[in-house]
Amino acid sequence: THFGFRDVASSDKAGLVGSVFSSVASSYDLMNDAMSLGIHRLWKSHFVSQLDPRGGIACLDVAGGTGDIATRILDHARTAHGDRQTKVTVLDINEKMLRAGQKNMAQTMYWGTDQLAFQLGNAEDLSLSAPPTQSPASISQQHQQQRLPRNSPALPALPTQPIASDSLDLYTIAFGIRNCTDIDAVLREAHRVLRPGGIFACLEFGKVDGRQLPFLPALYRRYSFDVIPSLGQVLAGDRDSYQYLVESIERFPTQPEFARMMQRAGFTLAGQPEAAKWGIGSLGGETGKRDDDDVKGAWQDLTLGIASIWHGIKL
Ligand code: SAM
Repeated sequence: THFGFRDVASSDKAGLVGSVFSSVASSYDLMNDAMSLGIHRLWKSHFVSQLDPRGGIACLDVAGGTGDIATRILDHARTAHGDRQTKVTVLDINEKMLRAGQKNMAQTMYWGTDQLAFQLGNAEDLSLSAPPTQSPASISQQHQQQRLPRNSPALPALPTQPIASDSLDLYTIAFGIRNCTDIDAVLREAHRVLRPGGIFACLEFGKVDGRQLPFLPALYRRYSFDVIPSLGQVLAGDRDSYQYLVESIERFPTQPEFARMMQRAGFTLAGQPEAAKWGIGSLGGETGKRDDDDVKGAWQDLTLGIASIWHGIKL
């Protein structure tokens, strides 16, 4: 599918998540590769190429810590459409994750251009201009955390600006919404900041589909709870953070449940006739249960439903 971007009218848990991502920031990329056998890269690339960003659009990648999605958005616009006008703001609540993302993206041609911006912020309230919980690290701490050479210049300060209503063409969130305390608030904020015709796209862990192979969900659960914390222990010296990640995947709603949450926040779902009129095609996902037929097509399962993509449009 592609979206006619140009055609449509132009707490406690928060603290815990902060510490989880602070402690995993440096080993984050390695762990992602180890846990998913590198497949997360394919999921992310598919997520972005399916969105087909182009035409000088304004994008916000929320919980974008690593820069993985922003890099792919800008690469796709440039290589598939010769577009060097599209802009991405990478927003994350965690300074260390954002710094890790800056470090990754400092190697790209977008670094230092107005195509790319980084900012601290909370997905649950994008109108906040106050900095979130963490105090900025000192320059020497930054250097240590990021293993930068001792006398390299300090990274620019991270701004925290309120995101205006109706200001964006595309809102993406990949493996981020699961970590937010109030998912409904995140969705409401996403809906607020998108312009009419703007697209919400989420990539997140889903529930494994057991319709073809009934033993699969149990097998996956076993892998998650037995293998992932141990991998965390061995590769990152941090069992607890990865135990938390596994539990957060387990707690996240099912694919149709999340689709309904999007709907309650005001989005028109992919798979609905009104969305099709705006060029938002069905993503094909279904559970086979009649109760879920109302949200059929709002998502697409990747790798047996281990991950899923959801699309909605603000009309
Ligand atoms: N999107 C990146 C990717 O796919 O590689 C990073 C995903 S990482 C699993 C989750 C990110 O969500 C972390 O960087 C974390 O700091 C961020 N995060 C958690 N709660 C958040 C919130 N309320 N607002 C913004 N970001 C948040």
